[in-house]
Amino acid sequence: MGNSKFFESEKLFDNVTVIAGLAGEQCYLVEGSEKALLIDGLSGVGSLKAFVRELTDLPVEVVNTHGHVDHCGANFEFGECRIHPADIRLMYDHSDPERRFGFAMSGARAKAMATPPTMADVIPACAVKTYPVYDGDVFDLGGVQLEVIGVPGHSFGTIVLLDRERRVVFSGDACNPNTLLFLPGSTTIEEYRESLLHFKEYQPDFDVMYGGHGRNAVPKAIIDDALELCGEIMAGTDDRMESAYTGRHCYYAKRFTGDFKRLDGGIANIAYALDGIRKK
Ligand SMILES: [Zn+2]
Repeated sequence: MGNSKFFESEKLFDNVTVIAGLAGEQCYLVEGSEKALLIDGLSGVGSLKAFVRELTDLPVEVVNTHGHVDHCGANFEFGECRIHPADIRLMYDHSDPERRFGFAMSGARAKAMATPPTMADVIPACAVKTYPVYDGDVFDLGGVQLEVIGVPGHSFGTIVLLDRERRVVFSGDACNPNTLLFLPGSTTIEEYRESLLHFKEYQPDFDVMYGGHGRNAVPKAIIDDALELCGEIMAGTDDRMESAYTGRHCYYAKRFTGDFKRLDGGIANIAYALDGIRKK
């Protein structure tokens, strides 16, 4: 366990460290014998590159599960990343330093600080050399393999990474108790359902998923749960609970209490817009 003003880290496995940023956004450092892969890069407040350098001597490559503000901060420090081409535009749309600072400061940890971060702590945006990643690609870190699974939904270019050996998936924001499908750049529910069916083909190869928010591992059964919700949303038989997550109007498929605990005991939930259900 290592901490700094901006980051908190904890070992998940011998070779895997989870690192959380100021708003609880999470990335994962996976080490092989030859190199390390940084899965996502937080919001770019404070030097994640320096923090990672304290954790490993290996060369580090950055991969983004998707292009959102709280996942791509390290891109602007490393100057390069691996990302699905469908999310490159999104990554630049979310690169504005004020926006990244705003995200970091929205977290409870940042708000509680005696000396809060300032704009001077934000890594400036820059042009990033992007290497494309696609469904089916494999990262070989030396004795550790991570397989790319495309799960478009939360964004068009969303990917997750499967480690068959440890039986885990690093899932970003692809499928969790608060999956946001109403954002600019999200797919329709109908398309997301197809993505989940593809993801489900890999279900026998892992047990849990580690996501971009929330420290606890999420059971793989959440995929079945989310598939069921997609069906209900498309049939109009879900709870269709009106809400406004981060000020944006949307509907949740299932009623929940404050911390995204479903009242009916299910795990998955999906926030969507009425014009984002069927394929266009
Ligand atoms: Zn996201």
